[in-house]
This record gives sequence, structure tokens and C-alpha cells, in this order.
Amino acid sequence: MAISPIAMAARPPVPWAPLVIAEDRCKGCELCVSACPKDVLALDRSRVNVLGYHPVELIEAGSCTSCAFCARVCPDAVFTVWAAPRGLVREERTR
Ligand code: SF4
Ligand code: SF4
Repeated sequence: MAISPIAMAARPPVPWAPLVIAEDRCKGCELCVSACPKDVLALDRSRVNVLGYHPVELIEAGSCTSCAFCARVCPDAVFTVWAAPRGLVREERTR
């Protein structure tokens, strides 16, 4: 699994979200899109990042299970994955 030192030092986003996406490192290879069992990742073809690629985005946060398959396959350590806080139900997920 590719986990960046920056990601390891980070704190969970507030409000909580299952993924933090360092989109400027994304090269649009779509490995994560294929790996996601919930089919909630897609390239945002309306934007281009600093590398010149369409970056990946989380299109349905409420269906993300924080399984981290996306982070395991990403060659560029784009994802930081957070488990849901204890007691949080899926409908309370904000992004
Ligand atoms: S953590 Fe799992 S469900 Fe969520 S986007 Fe990544 S692969 Fe998909
Ligand atoms: S696997 Fe990584 S580099 Fe490839 S599209 Fe997904 S986030 Fe971007």
C-alpha cells in the first residue's frame, strides 16, 4: 500500500470524510477506479491538475466503505483513507 509520510501525519478531515485525495499527484491511470468495489471513484474530466491529468474524485462518499483498495493500488500515494468515527452512521457522512 502506498501511504505518504504527509498522509500518515495528517489528522482526519473535519467534517469527517472517508478519503483525502491529493489530486495534484494523480496521473489519471484509473487503477483505483478499477479497484474500487463500490464504483465510487471516477476521473473528473472537467478539470486538469498541475501534472496535466484529469484527477480522480470520489463521486459518492456515502457508499465508500474505507476499504482502502484504492490506496493499495495507487502508485502515487494519492489517497489518505479514514475509517468512520465510532458511532457514525452512513447517512451522517458529509462528503
Ligand atoms: S476506500 Fe474502498 S470503497 Fe472507498 S473509494 Fe477507496 S476502494 Fe472505493
Ligand atoms: S491510481 Fe492514483 S494516480 Fe491512478 S487515477 Fe487513481 S489516484 Fe490517480
